[in-house]
Amino acid sequence: MYEVYGVIGDPVSHSLSPIMHNLAFKEKNVKAVYGAFKVRPSDLAKAVEGIRALNIKGVSVTIPHKEKIIEYLDEIDEIAQEIGAVNTILNKEGILKGFNTDWIGVLKAFEENGVKLKDKKVVVIGAGGASKAVIYALIKGGAKKIYVYNRTFEKAKLLEKKFKITAKPWEELKKADGDIIIQATSVGLKSWETPVGEEIISRFKVAMDIVYLPLKTKFLSLAERYGKIIDGLQMLLYQGVEQFKIWTGMEPPLELMKKAIYEEAKNLEKEILK
Ligand code: NAP
Repeated sequence: MYEVYGVIGDPVSHSLSPIMHNLAFKEKNVKAVYGAFKVRPSDLAKAVEGIRALNIKGVSVTIPHKEKIIEYLDEIDEIAQEIGAVNTILNKEGILKGFNTDWIGVLKAFEENGVKLKDKKVVVIGAGGASKAVIYALIKGGAKKIYVYNRTFEKAKLLEKKFKITAKPWEELKKADGDIIIQATSVGLKSWETPVGEEIISRFKVAMDIVYLPLKTKFLSLAERYGKIIDGLQMLLYQGVEQFKIWTGMEPPLELMKKAIYEEAKNLEKEILK
């Protein structure tokens, strides 16, 4: 019998998770299929009941449900609790447990690019759901100073309180500087926009964008003139690797998954930007 896995979110039509996980299941001879389920915010409670009723074995959780889903699950892993967001559910004999693997995705992406976070001054733009995992990773990686800038200042303030970092008003972004800059807003997703201009970007030696469609965002295109760039697909890949381990206890085929999602992202990019 085949087991069922999937991603819930809204939108999910461009999710690369089905490609990545179905490939890994096949390669590791796991009898399972992974689908994409569009779930509107108002249907989230019903969707969780559906996971239980249909005995769906594992679920990836994406925008906009990562925070809200916590109240519907039976158990939350300690780190996911600390971050305040869940991107992975494991269904273990009817008990739904939430985990967060996004932060590992961020850490691994830096590691794989040979960028050390220890003692670095890091600027994070954006204070949405994904920023929490980004900031948690930076703290775990030993960053010395973390500044978060957000259009809605109150949300940056909440992160300041939660993680003991420094919130900065959006208007001060033009004065930002440091070692590493991370673009964690949704600006530039399926569009050619950046929340910060070249003058600011040029002050950093490393730039990461967590948006991955297009693969090389406008932000990254400007940043590559001044230093190393890290695209958002790397975070997606490594958070997916950790999900697969949680669900199956197996090491997934990393290189195959990587190749498949980069190919698909390039195809989608052509479709989106034409
Ligand atoms: P979210 O909770 O909706 O937060 C969106 C963030 O973008 C907020 O900080 C918001 O500011 C900011 N923003 C939106 N429009 C803006 C604008 N015009 N100008 C300035 N700031 C703007 O979303 P999220 O879950 O944090 O996700 C953010 C992005 O990361 C998404 O595009 C998502 O695709 C990507 N992501 C990638 C990965 C990966 O694996 N690579 C994982 C998770 C998410 P306000 O607070 O002022 O509204």
